[in-house]
Amino acid sequence: MQIILYYDDVTLTTSGATRVKLGMFYFTLGNFDATFRSRVDTISLLAIAHYEDIRKYGIDRVLTPLLEELAQLANPAGVIFNLREFYLPVRGAVVAVAADTPASNYFSGFKEGVGGALRKCRHCNTDYETMQNHFDEEDFLPRTLQQHLLQCQVMEKSETLRDHHSTNYGITRRSALCDFPFFNVTQQMPQDIMHILCLCNPVVLSVVDFSRRLLRLLHIFKEIFIKRFTIRR
Ligand SMILES: [Zn+2]
Repeated sequence: MQIILYYDDVTLTTSGATRVKLGMFYFTLGNFDATFRSRVDTISLLAIAHYEDIRKYGIDRVLTPLLEELAQLANPAGVIFNLREFYLPVRGAVVAVAADTPASNYFSGFKEGVGGALRKCRHCNTDYETMQNHFDEEDFLPRTLQQHLLQCQVMEKSETLRDHHSTNYGITRRSALCDFPFFNVTQQMPQDIMHILCLCNPVVLSVVDFSRRLLRLLHIFKEIFIKRFTIRR
């Protein structure tokens, strides 16, 4: 089973006008064809937690029960499902964790606001200058899990180096994701394309705006066509 996790915050307003902020965790399976993965009936709710609790006790605490179940799924014997006729052993792991940029960074132990960090990317060791002047993957030195774990270890052990490592590598802690079986926190947290490209780049913004207008126009044409076709028939 290829598990794809998703996390985001929502704010609900109750009938008494009280606002409640919640952290929502969902998952879908990479085994489904990509066409079906965004359908509501293939997405399952994993957990809901009060945002204040997540911030107070840490997101890693919310993930503890999941971590225990993932350990069972990663076991060579897997988890045995009884399907009446036969027993089906199932093995699985989290293959990706999706969230917007601040949530992904918080989730994975990177700085949420990367403005003050020398290295701003979860995937590579780029600094601001390189990021602005290079656009090919080969021009960037990827982060590795081994390096990341070592940096986290140094941060945990040395109070003196904590701030230095945090600023230098843009990290805050060793996330619980590092304990997910087969999970590489430097590779399996996809970038949030909509926020990074669309909300920051004026060229992409205008393309998106043009596409929206075009889609609206096509929708109007479709409505007109359907009406004419229905009347003639
Ligand atoms: Zn990068």
